[in-house]
Amino acid sequence: MPGDNGKGVEQDVVIIGAGAAGIAAARRLQAIRPDLSILLLEAGDRLGGRAWSVGLPEAGDIALDLGCGWLHGARTNAWTAIAGEVGLTVDRTPAPWNGGRRLQRDDAATQAAQEAIGAYFERLDSHEGADIDLAEMLEAGNPWNGQIRAIGTYITGAELERSSVLDYNRYDPGPGPDWRVREGYGTLISRYGLPVPTRLGVEVTRINHRHAGRIDIETNQGGLSARIVLVTVSTNVLAAGRIAFDPPLPDKIEAAARLPLGLADKLFLRLANQEALPADTHMLGSISRGATGTYQLRPFGAAVVEAYFAGDLAHDLERQGVEAAFSFAADELAAQFGADIRKQLSVADMSAWAAAPHIGGSYSYAEPGASDLRGVLATPRDERIFFAGEACSRARYSTAHGAYETGVTAADLIAGSLSQDR
Ligand SMILES: Cc1cc2nc3c(=O)[nH]c(=O)nc-3n(C[C@H](O)[C@H](O)[C@H](O)COP(=O)(O)OP(=O)(O)OC[C@H]3O[C@@H](n4cnc5c(N)ncnc54)[C@H](O)[C@@H]3O)c2cc1C
Repeated sequence: MPGDNGKGVEQDVVIIGAGAAGIAAARRLQAIRPDLSILLLEAGDRLGGRAWSVGLPEAGDIALDLGCGWLHGARTNAWTAIAGEVGLTVDRTPAPWNGGRRLQRDDAATQAAQEAIGAYFERLDSHEGADIDLAEMLEAGNPWNGQIRAIGTYITGAELERSSVLDYNRYDPGPGPDWRVREGYGTLISRYGLPVPTRLGVEVTRINHRHAGRIDIETNQGGLSARIVLVTVSTNVLAAGRIAFDPPLPDKIEAAARLPLGLADKLFLRLANQEALPADTHMLGSISRGATGTYQLRPFGAAVVEAYFAGDLAHDLERQGVEAAFSFAADELAAQFGADIRKQLSVADMSAWAAAPHIGGSYSYAEPGASDLRGVLATPRDERIFFAGEACSRARYSTAHGAYETGVTAADLIAGSLSQDR
């Protein structure tokens, strides 16, 4: 900004949000511009955001991920290499959708369901022309639409009617299979953030960018100033106006509102006798209903079941609470393994991402016609307010490595903008 070189400003760069994107940006800036002062502000009481691992005594050295769990595109996923650098273990057991073990009947119904699902995704891939919603690609009356709907919600976190075919077709996690981190994806991301100067419990409420050379940041813990701000909060936080921009940034708020977070929640169940279920095996609750859970039985061989609910079902179960979710999951497991399995199960932990105060959902999807708004959200304002986070990624949205990449990109742009300043 002309006429002011930022003298008296407290920080060169303030990064808002200590999730995958904020941490990646901070680490990148530390590496390429060690001369800069950087401060990471996080409203919550831990690092990681939607990456959050919890331990369980019966699970030994493995951790359970309430948020991201799979290193998608693992061979080229930046977090895979970082896991090695920070001393964590990448587990290469194939994912259920990539040749891993699945509980699946080998009958005509299952065969027909597979064919219907395959045909649906082929129709999506070959769609050209105006953007439409994912439900418009269903075949009216197809008996397997329920299962296609269930799979759709696991992918986008929303019912098919809400999300864009074009955005779905742009999704590309990169080459490579899907792996996991034994100690947890959340452990990995939060550990990578440890060397970054961070203040936890600091919620940014206002960003005043009226003045040349300084940005004033208001928080629940007082004010501070910076030359550059990087915003990495979720689209639901932005769209709800939880951070006021002064002057306002309506294009960012509108983009965020049309890239809302879908919902996926995980329920972890303890298994009293681990022999009761097969190790590291996947099971779909129902092959006909849309509102059904997907289950990872004994992940890493531990005496635990990971239930995954998405879309409207996840909203309902999160609202109704953990007992309702437990009873839903126990019913679906009992339908497969017999009523006695209930006696083996008890609640270990459950996520509630819709209610998470500083996040408000799980991963972003685009409304029909809104896919290009990912680029609008990612575009810096005046070379001094930058944006990153999974929703800013054109092809790797909804992932932790996509979030990482947007953080690195923003850090490189910030370094460029500050070097022009000097
Ligand atoms: C159940 C579930 C399963 C998932 N599975 C996978 C998976 O298998 N693989 C995968 O790659 N991805 C998965 N994801 C998605 C992945 O977790 C996210 O895409 C990624 O972690 C998002 O990172 P981010 O930095 O963009 O945002 P966030 O993690 O949301 O980080 C933003 C941070 O900003 C903070 N914040 C918000 N408002 C303020 C404020 N006003 N002031 C200060 N701080 C603020 C928040 O507390 C948060 O820590 C999953 C997510 C969920 C919920």
